[in-house]
Amino acid sequence: MIDYSRVKTPAYVVDENLLIRNLEILKSVMDRTSCKIVLAQKGFSMFSLYPLIGKYLCGTTASSLYEAKLGKEEMGKETHIFSPAYKEKEFDEIAILCDHIVFNSIEQFMKYRNIALQANCSCGLRINPQYAEVPNEIYNPCCVGSRLGITVDVLEEELKCDFSILDNIEGLHFHVMCEQNSDTLERVLKHVEEKFAKYLALPQIKWVNFGGGHHITRQDYDIELLIKCINYIQKKYYVQVYLEPGEAVALNTGFLVATVLSVQKEKFTVHNENGGYEVTSAILDTSAACHMPDVLEMPYRPIIINSEMPGVLAYTYRFGGNTCLAGDIIGDYSFHHQLKAGEKLVFTDMAHYSMVKNNTFNGIGLPSIMIYNDKDGLYTVKEFGYQDFKERLS
Ligand SMILES: *Cc1c(COP(=O)(O)O)cnc(C)c1O
Repeated sequence: MIDYSRVKTPAYVVDENLLIRNLEILKSVMDRTSCKIVLAQKGFSMFSLYPLIGKYLCGTTASSLYEAKLGKEEMGKETHIFSPAYKEKEFDEIAILCDHIVFNSIEQFMKYRNIALQANCSCGLRINPQYAEVPNEIYNPCCVGSRLGITVDVLEEELKCDFSILDNIEGLHFHVMCEQNSDTLERVLKHVEEKFAKYLALPQIKWVNFGGGHHITRQDYDIELLIKCINYIQKKYYVQVYLEPGEAVALNTGFLVATVLSVQKEKFTVHNENGGYEVTSAILDTSAACHMPDVLEMPYRPIIINSEMPGVLAYTYRFGGNTCLAGDIIGDYSFHHQLKAGEKLVFTDMAHYSMVKNNTFNGIGLPSIMIYNDKDGLYTVKEFGYQDFKERLS
């Protein structure tokens, strides 16, 4: 058990036992299919844990030169990259660092093909199957006018004059899912095949990357169907399947520990379908805007240990961050007891898309980063201070 009373807040705490549980699930998928799984660093880049993650996964994938460098330095193993467009001044280094380079268009591929091939990179093309089940447009790479991936019509047009353009393409990559189960993958694959079967079947295509967004480590995830999907594609097209989850690696492995700084006197009523509830604002030493931006961007309501939905228990609070942004609201939560300043709160599932996205808006300091494991107990990996705020600003 983690003793949260010892945590200097705010702090992210990652529990290695929970991480290992996820990694074992992912490893079992690799063992049962011989697919390869790499960590999408975009979702989780706490590199002090890369040696542990690298014991289970095959490497990392990156969205940029810096992520590629981090993955190579801290995990080694396979290093993959996808970027909507590469920068000329960075590409030489990317080609040296990466084993797989995924291009967003034929134009990008042609531009960098020689450098990539000279560095022995395996080149892939990101395709847009024009099918996704992501209702939130900000997370839908198949939205109308999406800049992500090549559509089959454009690909066919590009190949009209010269099919040999594809001679050095060894992989196809799609990423169209977000926190979804394998039934979605099964339907996505139907559309991928419908549009791109001819390309999947090309003899030079050695790998197919199913992207991220697979919620493999969630309790209700259907792993058997995932395995069926992977085996089906691998056998039918003689390819190596890759998955590159971010969220599924770190899902439910971390906490954000915060302290109540102030409980306000004003009470107000929130009306809802069950009638409503009375709520009091409380200010925390953390912030949705700075430390858990997905709460506002997704948006979603994180869970706090020992709390219930608003109005369920005797005392309901609306937790706000200590910034000047009126909308820096984390959510409404009810408790058995009256909260006082100084009390600690523990937000669950705060390892992914938190540290990688946080910021110092309003001069709010960054949470410390801590690890819990059986051998060493709870310890601090990194603390941040004034310099971390100042150094980015002039
Ligand atoms: C975001 C992203 C991932 C990881 O997605 P998760 O939802 O964190 O699993 C993988 N591949 C690409 C190309 C991405 O953009």
